[in-house]
Amino acid sequence: MTLPGTWREALPPVRGRLEFDAPLRDFTWFRVGGPAEVLFLPRDEDDLADFLRALPAEVPVTILGAASNVIVRDGGIEGVTVRLAGRGFGEIAAEPAAGQVIAGAAALDAQLARASAKAGIGGLEFFAGIPGTVGGALVMNAGCYDGETSRVLSVAWGVDRTGARQVFTPADLDFSYRHARLPPGLIWTGAVFQGQPTPPEMALEQIEAITRRRETTQPIREKTGGSTFKNPPGGSAWRCVDQAGWRGRIWGGAQVSPLHANFLINGGAASAADLEGLGEAIRADVAAKLGVTLEWEIRRLGRP
Ligand SMILES: Cc1cc2nc3c(=O)[nH]c(=O)nc-3n(C[C@H](O)[C@H](O)[C@H](O)COP(=O)(O)OP(=O)(O)OC[C@H]3O[C@@H](n4cnc5c(N)ncnc54)[C@H](O)[C@@H]3O)c2cc1C
Repeated sequence: MTLPGTWREALPPVRGRLEFDAPLRDFTWFRVGGPAEVLFLPRDEDDLADFLRALPAEVPVTILGAASNVIVRDGGIEGVTVRLAGRGFGEIAAEPAAGQVIAGAAALDAQLARASAKAGIGGLEFFAGIPGTVGGALVMNAGCYDGETSRVLSVAWGVDRTGARQVFTPADLDFSYRHARLPPGLIWTGAVFQGQPTPPEMALEQIEAITRRRETTQPIREKTGGSTFKNPPGGSAWRCVDQAGWRGRIWGGAQVSPLHANFLINGGAASAADLEGLGEAIRADVAAKLGVTLEWEIRRLGRP
């Protein structure tokens, strides 16, 4: 739907910040993509809810976490893009007696892992291997090394597109591999995770082991976006990409990582179109050569 040209002149008042034509590229892991028509940085959950309630329903709203699993397209993101930059959204509080950790949706997964470990709560160490936020983990059911968000989540809450606050248990979310079923437009704002008593040094050691392992198996120092494709049923995406001969191949400014064939890399001059074009070329080739349909794990947001 095309919005009237004046929609940005009548935005609801906010206590946080509104920015127009705000560049997003440098904020994304891939370092590509156009601007947000409007970027909203709410100060707290009430600010977010009041804004969404008053924002005309036809204005699309997009939420970004750490942008570690997205390609923002070159034409930018239409409507309002939300980033949870307010202080409260990044807070983490451990309740060792209950084995629980409460985290704001903008808290980094790695900080969640470390805070839990230091408080003597184990089971959340795997979050150290995921460079996103708690909000992104809830949406993607993020996981690695035998750990998965769905298995440690106790309860999560957020604000829907009408500004109403909603609370969910794992059963409500019908989690599956890299997927959760949540109401369209829901923005996570916080969650409680359940772990178990574990000596801090043991949990911290496991975090170090995860960090070391990732350094050698994933191109974490590159401009990348995590796993490009979901693993196909009974198979592995990187193996399909490898077998079809795409490891290390270059496509404009984009490349398939020589280290991990399911990671794409911006070599420095890639556009979002290069990265998405490379992904689509791989999908078509893998389908033709191996008869396997690869599904994108990376979310592509905005206008080409
Ligand atoms: C080097 C590297 C390694 C990675 N390794 C792993 C791994 O081992 N396992 C794994 O699972 N993932 C991995 N990832 C992918 C990524 O880190 C995860 O998917 C992560 O959960 C995404 O979180 P994010 O905050 O970056 O979300 P974003 O990339 O910003 O967004 C992802 C999706 O979540 C939505 N979203 C974000 N925040 C919210 C919110 N508050 N409310 C509602 N929706 C929201 C966005 O709209 C988008 O649809 C890796 C990525 C990189 C770059």
